[in-house]
Amino acid sequence: MRIKRLEIIGFKSFVDKVEIDFQDGVTAIVGPNGCGKSNIVDAIRWAMGEQSARNLRGKSMEDVIFNGSETRKPHGMAEVSLIFDNEDGLAPPAFAQYAEIMVTRRLYRSGESEYLLNKTPCRLLDIAELFMDTGVGRRAYSIIEQGKIGFILNAKPEERRFLIEEAAGVTKFKARKKTAIRKIDATRQNLLRLGDIISEVN
Ligand code: ATP
Repeated sequence: MRIKRLEIIGFKSFVDKVEIDFQDGVTAIVGPNGCGKSNIVDAIRWAMGEQSARNLRGKSMEDVIFNGSETRKPHGMAEVSLIFDNEDGLAPPAFAQYAEIMVTRRLYRSGESEYLLNKTPCRLLDIAELFMDTGVGRRAYSIIEQGKIGFILNAKPEERRFLIEEAAGVTKFKARKKTAIRKIDATRQNLLRLGDIISEVN
């Protein structure tokens, strides 16, 4: 899955709608200090479901909403859409018929937030599953920020294993195993409770 386009409205310094097309090959974003280069990377990571305000260089998630300038009033909502092409067919089978996949995240000042997949409301989990094992995703190796190469080189083998598992395509199965184990545990607890009730009734 390749990022084709990014659309931003009301996110950090991008008050008006900005569209960035990513061509094949390497894209470099250049500009003077403070012009918003890192905000573009933050927007990509946020749309992919980043949950930590700190990882987006803020104190609370509300900090991603444009908070006004000398000439513009603060915005009530931030919205970022990422458009991927699915020509390599790496997206899950449910998306096989789509040549393009659009992931959208919105956050209102009220705290209300929304995720959309191809303009249809969805859960954060659906977004996470879409990216698993594709090498994209908020924690995957598609975003190598300052300091990450050093982190990878200095990481312990267990930490580095995460990147290898993502590339090998086992992340999805590990996540599903974790969910299944949680369900088995809950069912075990229910069976225990049921056993107690049965013995009380008898
Ligand atoms: P550098 O080259 O110094 O790393 P940069 O081009 O990466 O800079 P960013 O860090 O992306 O710049 O952008 C910083 C700018 O974004 C600052 O001017 C800051 O005031 C602005 N900014 C950040 N959050 C918001 C927000 N919520 N509302 C309005 N402006 C914001």
